[in-house]
Amino acid sequence: MTLKPTVIVIEDEKNIAEFIAASLSAHGYKVLTAASGQKGLSLITSGLPDIILLDLGLPDIDGIEIIHQVRKWNQLPIIVISARTQEQEKVLALDSGADDYITKPFGTPELLARIRTAMRHSQHSGSNVLSALEPMYLSDGLKIDFLRRLVTLKGEEVHLTQIEYKLVSLLAKHSGRVLTYDYIINHIWGPYADNNNNQILRVNMAHIRRKLEANPGEPHYIFTEIGVGYRMKENQQEMDGKE
Ligand code: CA
Repeated sequence: MTLKPTVIVIEDEKNIAEFIAASLSAHGYKVLTAASGQKGLSLITSGLPDIILLDLGLPDIDGIEIIHQVRKWNQLPIIVISARTQEQEKVLALDSGADDYITKPFGTPELLARIRTAMRHSQHSGSNVLSALEPMYLSDGLKIDFLRRLVTLKGEEVHLTQIEYKLVSLLAKHSGRVLTYDYIINHIWGPYADNNNNQILRVNMAHIRRKLEANPGEPHYIFTEIGVGYRMKENQQEMDGKE
């Protein structure tokens, strides 16, 4: 019997807060809820949470401000709860230090997957990447061996260009999490990248999809988060034994 992970839910919409609390309690989490930013901040101080779920549109304090406040003193995983239309806010939240976001309406499996991913990454000493002991990404027949720089799909080698490999391995090392366009571009092309790189990124992603996806229009491995970035399907290998 292990200690239940504690989740703090800061959300002023009662229905959503109650839905989250019920879903997570049923799956072995201890849930504390706050309907305002002020109450949320004091709960974070007193409740010793393992993870925070944060609505951006709160009655008193802007959710982004809460992220800034929390990040001044700790690196707790924060998942933002956002509306479908808040693309710029999602990007701002991620750039402000949120780990991920989940878009309303969402179901329990998606919520649990996001929490699992965020908590796992935070356990990897804040590095947000697969540890050296897990030098491989594996999901539904797609395997990326980071040491050998080898990508195989159902046992067949996939031939990627250098830049395509860099993109795929970056996404795979952060699998389950969204990476913003800016993050990816900075990481691959460095700080001097310009608008041109947006286009180059899109073109390369299209090439990658043609090589990896049975149906590039309905991707199975790498998902587009419209207006935000890309998210790679969770590493299945990492999930073993965690359920
Ligand atoms: Ca709200």
